[in-house]
Amino acid sequence: MGDLEALGLKIGLEIHCQLTNLKTKLFCSCPSDYRAKEPNTVLCPVCSGEPGALPILNGAAVEDAVMVALALGSTLSKRMIFSRKNYFYPDMPKNFQISQYDGAGGIPFAVGGQVSIADSKQVRVRRIQIEEDPGKLAYEGTIDSSPVTLVDYNRAGVALIEVITEPDVNSPREARLFLQKLRSILEHLGVSDGSLDGSMRCDANISLAGGKRVEIKNISSFKDVERALSFEITRQRSLLGRGLTVKQETRHWDEMRRITVSLRVKEEEMDYRYFPEPDLVPVVLSDDLIQTIRSRMPPLPDERKSSYVRKLGLSPAIAGALTGSKSLADFFEACVKLYPNPPKVGNWLASDLQAWLNRIDVDVRESKLTPRHVAEMLELIDNGTISGKIGKRVLETMMKTGEMPGLIVEQQGLLRIHAVDELQQVVDRVLNENPEAVRDAMADEKAVHFLVGQIMKATQGRADPQLANQVVTRRLRELRRADA
Ligand SMILES: [Zn+2]
Repeated sequence: MGDLEALGLKIGLEIHCQLTNLKTKLFCSCPSDYRAKEPNTVLCPVCSGEPGALPILNGAAVEDAVMVALALGSTLSKRMIFSRKNYFYPDMPKNFQISQYDGAGGIPFAVGGQVSIADSKQVRVRRIQIEEDPGKLAYEGTIDSSPVTLVDYNRAGVALIEVITEPDVNSPREARLFLQKLRSILEHLGVSDGSLDGSMRCDANISLAGGKRVEIKNISSFKDVERALSFEITRQRSLLGRGLTVKQETRHWDEMRRITVSLRVKEEEMDYRYFPEPDLVPVVLSDDLIQTIRSRMPPLPDERKSSYVRKLGLSPAIAGALTGSKSLADFFEACVKLYPNPPKVGNWLASDLQAWLNRIDVDVRESKLTPRHVAEMLELIDNGTISGKIGKRVLETMMKTGEMPGLIVEQQGLLRIHAVDELQQVVDRVLNENPEAVRDAMADEKAVHFLVGQIMKATQGRADPQLANQVVTRRLRELRRADA
């Protein structure tokens, strides 16, 4: 992708996070758990916007939002109001959304703050606000080809926290890191379960030097955020490169085709005719309440990370990778209880396990792996039953099947080859098959490495490399002597 900095790339993110820990919606007593429910059954006059129905603010949502603001180092507004954002769209039964706003007399929930995504990189938070989720449109097939649009209002009125960043993100990868970190923070606070489908959705504003700002709407997975931004960089770069202009507009991310599609020319903020919500009273946050909430906040990912480095001897990179997800950090601690060697456990989980989880986009809680699997596998390596390399294969099989490592080793014949006799046969076969390499190795001892590599390959990693080296070297010596 070339040098992204030289492109003047600026990305700002708006993340909508559902407060999945709440029992009820933001302004009514309908259950907030709308998933897997019959369409349009979790509804009442308030969330469906019937005339005369009045909203009542869910106090627990305010407490959640205070925690999030404190965790991100934001400054809370002591007195705030809600604003009406007017727009006519089929997923909005009221034709307006109760949200918060920093203009037109509005006051957002909190402003400022930051999220650290790497040791030296901070992404500044512009503001945090509470708002209600709209309903959900459904299509037959894709948005472009579907003959009908269906609407399900079960989600309408579910409490959201919106986190809006400054345009500090400078690459698609950083965008993903930011989202992972935010998700980990919310999970540590216990306010939002990021593994639920659609519980964290992201809009991204992206511009290149010389072009206008383009907004990509409603991207639902972290992988897709990275993909959508990469696509947009290529598209905008190609326009600018051909001397064309990048229009200010809103685009939709088509997950199936993996492209962004123009939705509409971007509304100006005045199109929303924001005004203070007349049906809700202002919210006043007392210092006492803020103190109480602060005092019961759990440790956050950064705190956990530094304790892994300080107390458990992990490298900052590994500690950061583990605490990037609450469930992974919990899993790590459970493994260490069974196998008390934190650096070793950390290395396995942060490299092999995490790469696999990322690849299939699954949370460790949803995988078949348990801490017992990991501990038993590490013990098999320690007592010499399997090699470290085979350990990787065992781990992969365990993740797929959930079988215990002992059984996998037995079924797949992965026991380490210790017996010199058994290895000798393989060595002879490899030497016969590689006469040139044998000649090289007789002349130069360093060339033995190639033969050892072939033996490891022939045994699929089951040979002990040191032992293989010894057996080969001895065999070569015998050959030399026979020649002499
Ligand atoms: Zn309702």
